[in-house]
Amino acid sequence: MTMEDSKMNMKDREDKNAVLASTLYLVSTPIGNLSDLSERAVKVLSEVDIIAAEDTRNTMKLLSFSGISKPMISYHEHNKRESGGRIIEELLAGRSCALVTDAGTPAISDPGEDLVRLATENNINVTSIPGPCAAITALSLSALSTRRFVFEGFLEGTRNQRLQRLSELKNEGRTIIFYEAPHNMRQTLELMCETFGNKRRTAICRELTKINEEVMRTTLSGALEYYTVNEPRGEYVIVLDGAQPGDDDSFFSHMSVAEHVEYYTSAGLSVMDAVKQTARDRGVAKSVIYKEIHNSKNESD
Ligand code: SAM
Repeated sequence: MTMEDSKMNMKDREDKNAVLASTLYLVSTPIGNLSDLSERAVKVLSEVDIIAAEDTRNTMKLLSFSGISKPMISYHEHNKRESGGRIIEELLAGRSCALVTDAGTPAISDPGEDLVRLATENNINVTSIPGPCAAITALSLSALSTRRFVFEGFLEGTRNQRLQRLSELKNEGRTIIFYEAPHNMRQTLELMCETFGNKRRTAICRELTKINEEVMRTTLSGALEYYTVNEPRGEYVIVLDGAQPGDDDSFFSHMSVAEHVEYYTSAGLSVMDAVKQTARDRGVAKSVIYKEIHNSKNESD
């Protein structure tokens, strides 16, 4: 490389890294270890006009760690409508804004998703300063297949709704990534054992990048056994192996079709939804399930 080439490269880099007016920057921040804040993230946070933060106190700590002082706007789940509107007004008025969420990559399981949509609907330039993300960090450490994977984020709703969502994933062959809060860990592992069987492999990734980082590579029943005795603490990502062809240790494989449907109805699903889910679990058409129920009723009459 000549001196001229190298000067050109520096110039390209400076141009690419210049902070532009009317632009929303999605700035990834550390998921536990402050040293993971990138050089480019520091530059953008130092140079933008305003920072939209999910938790301004958390972000204040990060900014003072990097010696940055900036006006902040609070942007979180409970004020995202009004605050989102205000941020868009600032951007349309020509100001640059960085969005940082509590930790990791904005818009992944946090309200950043809505701001990105709003900004693009208003033809505002959006760009990303990539960096830490708990899901990808956990997947890469899992020792499970990383070739194909799906991200489920948090399981939501009541026990039955969570069970229903898991049941829909029963035949998913790709590695599955979940986020989970410590107070839900036991129930989630129980529901997973119930749905996917005891032997499904999993990596329970806890407190990633922090002093107490831990990756437990085990089976679902191994994880449940461990957390029945030990209190779940800290932040968790559960990485779960996908369904393997010929999996036959599944919870439902020991049930008749009628028992399988009944399992869902007694969990609160309507007969129609229970049949639909049973058909999905077994990989057959709903008509096959209806026929089986009809036949088994006739036999018992
Ligand atoms: N946007 C973030 C990202 O890119 O990973 C995720 C935000 S979501 C609201 C927070 C969840 O991410 C936590 O409940 C936990 O499941 C997971 N998480 C975040 N930091 C983590 C860490 N250091 N170790 C394990 N899981 C973490």
